[in-house]
Amino acid sequence: MTQTPSADAPADPVGFGRHDHASCIADGLAEAEARCAAKGLRLTPVRRKALEILLQEHRALGAYDMLDRLRAAGFGSQPPVAYRALDFLVAGGFAHKIECLNAFIACAHPGARHTPAFMICRTCEAVAEAQAAPARGSLGKAARASGFAIERTVVEAEGLCPACQGGAEGGAGDGAGA
Ligand SMILES: [Zn+2]
Ligand SMILES: [Zn+2]
Ligand SMILES: [Zn+2]
Repeated sequence: MTQTPSADAPADPVGFGRHDHASCIADGLAEAEARCAAKGLRLTPVRRKALEILLQEHRALGAYDMLDRLRAAGFGSQPPVAYRALDFLVAGGFAHKIECLNAFIACAHPGARHTPAFMICRTCEAVAEAQAAPARGSLGKAARASGFAIERTVVEAEGLCPACQGGAEGGAGDGAGA
């Protein structure tokens, strides 16, 4: 199934299991191009390449890995090149920073308003992005009780992806998850 970018927050996590990955890359780039054009942002060749690199894998990439890949693709070799491209992608909502890994991942729901929640496999390092509404749950209750106004939350869960959970019982990730 193709995710149609829409204003609604999509419910399904993207990243684990089988999916049409070619459309992840194509949709992500197309969405970025459209939004940059609409907002007057410049999706320069190095920014576009950085996004494409992130979209190629559902895995977080550190700034130095990004630098290596940009260099291999013929872009500059100075760290600021990678940092600036990543800053642009994060600021524009095309990528997210995974705080606990100090690394970056392409947004799986480009164009949608959302608070990402990341599920990070500690074995294969795959990362899936789901939706979170922590401010509506128990954290929100605690915040209201203490008069705190939540502006931003970071949700990062570490664990095992379906493929890494042994897989012996025929649980080959055919989408039977929650
Ligand atoms: Zn994909
Ligand atoms: Zn996202
Ligand atoms: Zn895994």
